[in-house]
Amino acid sequence: MKSRLLDRLLLAARVDAVAPLGPRLRLITLTGPDLAGLDWVPGRHVRLQLAPGPAAVDWLVGTLRTYTVWSYADRTMELVVFDHGNGPGAEWARTARPGDELMLMRPQGTFVTAPAPYHLFAGEETAQAAYGPMLRALPPGARVFGRFEVDSPDERLDLRPGGDLEWSYRRGRSAASSETLVEAVRGLELPAEPGRAYLAGEARTIQLVRRHLVEERHWPRRNVITKPFWTPGRKGMD
Ligand SMILES: Cc1cc2nc3c(=O)[nH]c(=O)nc-3n(C[C@H](O)[C@H](O)[C@H](O)COP(=O)(O)OP(=O)(O)OC[C@H]3O[C@@H](n4cnc5c(N)ncnc54)[C@H](O)[C@@H]3O)c2cc1C
Repeated sequence: MKSRLLDRLLLAARVDAVAPLGPRLRLITLTGPDLAGLDWVPGRHVRLQLAPGPAAVDWLVGTLRTYTVWSYADRTMELVVFDHGNGPGAEWARTARPGDELMLMRPQGTFVTAPAPYHLFAGEETAQAAYGPMLRALPPGARVFGRFEVDSPDERLDLRPGGDLEWSYRRGRSAASSETLVEAVRGLELPAEPGRAYLAGEARTIQLVRRHLVEERHWPRRNVITKPFWTPGRKGMD
């Protein structure tokens, strides 16, 4: 029974290439026949089986970690994985090699763009990994604002030409509860009408930026789309 369930849940893939995008960011390319014809919209993520584990759910699917699909075509999928330090996901970012085999779940998720007068993105290293495909999917004339905070200039990702996109640097400070990212968003000169905001990355920082947009700029809550990726003390958020 386990193998039938696994066949429906999990796809087999092989690491095709690993390339550095910065000191702690890796572009990992997965390929394989199971990856053909997947239903993918930019912003959707996959869950990877990175290690076996003892818990009841792990018996079925192992230790899962979640990554946004950076690009997808035919039977090849790229992920941008951040090596933050300790955890099965971070370890995979450091150790994945071409030829490694792994299982993953089909693309899923609702953190995707929708038509709006303008689009606002804010977040840290892992949020950039989600915003790349979302920004590339917007029509060429879309009005775009972005404020990003990464540790150093080497950890900026190439997200989209044009738009009002700026990065600032934490230089060793934690990305959790980042008041400086809120300050950067507060400093934006936005049109008077609300746009659509996308907030991913560390959960407490997302709450702070969301509060700024809703309470200080009086945006309707439904215009602020959030997706917490991680927070200190929690493991494997999805
Ligand atoms: C929908 C979704 C999409 C995501 N997309 C991406 C993506 O495209 N690229 C990507 O790199 N990550 C992405 N993430 C985040 C990624 O899943 C987490 O960072 C993941 O938990 C890392 O797994 P781990 O095993 O290394 O650490 P875990 O075992 O999950 O966490 C252990 C501890 O490490 C710390 N930690 C975890 N992540 C970070 C971090 N990013 N920075 C600093 N400290 C951290 C926390 O203190 C946490 O308690 C996504 C998450 C979600 C929910």
